[in-house]
Amino acid sequence: MQNVLIIGSGCAGLTAAIYAARANLKPLVLEGHEPGGQLSLTTHVENFPGFPDGIMGPELIENMKRQAARFGAEFKSGAVTEVDLSKRPFTVTVNGEQHQTKTLIVAAGASARLLGLKGEKELIGRGVSTCATCDGYFFRGKPIAVVGGGDSAMEEANFLSRYANRVYLIHRRNDFRASKIMIDRAKANEKVEFVTPYVVEEIISPQGLVCGVKLRHTETKELKEITLDGVFVAIGHDPNTKVFKGQLDMDENGYLITSHGPKTNVEGVFAAGDVQDHHYRQAITAAGSGCMAAIEAERYLSAKSA
Ligand code: NAP
Repeated sequence: MQNVLIIGSGCAGLTAAIYAARANLKPLVLEGHEPGGQLSLTTHVENFPGFPDGIMGPELIENMKRQAARFGAEFKSGAVTEVDLSKRPFTVTVNGEQHQTKTLIVAAGASARLLGLKGEKELIGRGVSTCATCDGYFFRGKPIAVVGGGDSAMEEANFLSRYANRVYLIHRRNDFRASKIMIDRAKANEKVEFVTPYVVEEIISPQGLVCGVKLRHTETKELKEITLDGVFVAIGHDPNTKVFKGQLDMDENGYLITSHGPKTNVEGVFAAGDVQDHHYRQAITAAGSGCMAAIEAERYLSAKSA
């Protein structure tokens, strides 16, 4: 029986683990299908306080993990396939093994969406990316595309124009979900060319490396090809909340709804990080909410045993 079980090992989950471990609660962290979360896919992190020269994302995550382990946190790999929050203790199944816990911290994060094209997944790291800050540097002096019409796409197009010699912003509509200021900034950038309304039909990669995209005009159905070296998919994220459907309250996009800090609708279940935040989505805000979740879990356990 666990006091605190933490689902997710990104900076929300690991910060919760540090706090819960220092409170002598011996938390168990289930690392999930993307151990280390989005920071482990990042290169240089320059905005996490305390590192004036920046730090590499994977190193920051490794440090947090070591810090949690030093105080007694335990780790188990694998993704959660089932949870039962209808009775106490809660039951969480991972790798076919059931774990029982008095409190649960959900820090399962959010995963970048892909377009769903043939071969797209296999081309990640070979020209397809979901992370401009991680991979932009590899496309110095080369043409690339950003797919999407939200703030992320605009921000990434601008960011990538530091490296790429041309950025095609491909979006399926002529209207954008992005805020006006972000659209104006991208439009004012002479390296960014808007290609709308087009969908990507195919990522061309005869040698297993991206060398172009085939696009289809959504109205005229006309096809065209653009030669380029990289495709940055910026069409949003999906929170990893499928296993909680029907048990925890979530918004229409599947993000967990919290109140009074990290509290969910089930007493003793707390949520932290991107799984409940599509607004800030920063390493430091995720870490902060992980801390809050652990403190609330500790208070909940103390109140129950009093
Ligand atoms: P988003 O606002 O949900 O936009 C996703 C975009 O991707 C939309 O334009 C959507 O097209 C398109 N899209 C979705 N699925 C697609 C598919 N299968 N094929 C082609 N296109 C597809 O996501 P986001 O841009 O990641 O932003 C998420 C949140 O973070 C927003 O609240 C945003 O304001 C915020 N954010 C803010 C900043 C900033 O202010 N600096 C930066 C980044 C993100 P449709 O419009 O046609 O549906």
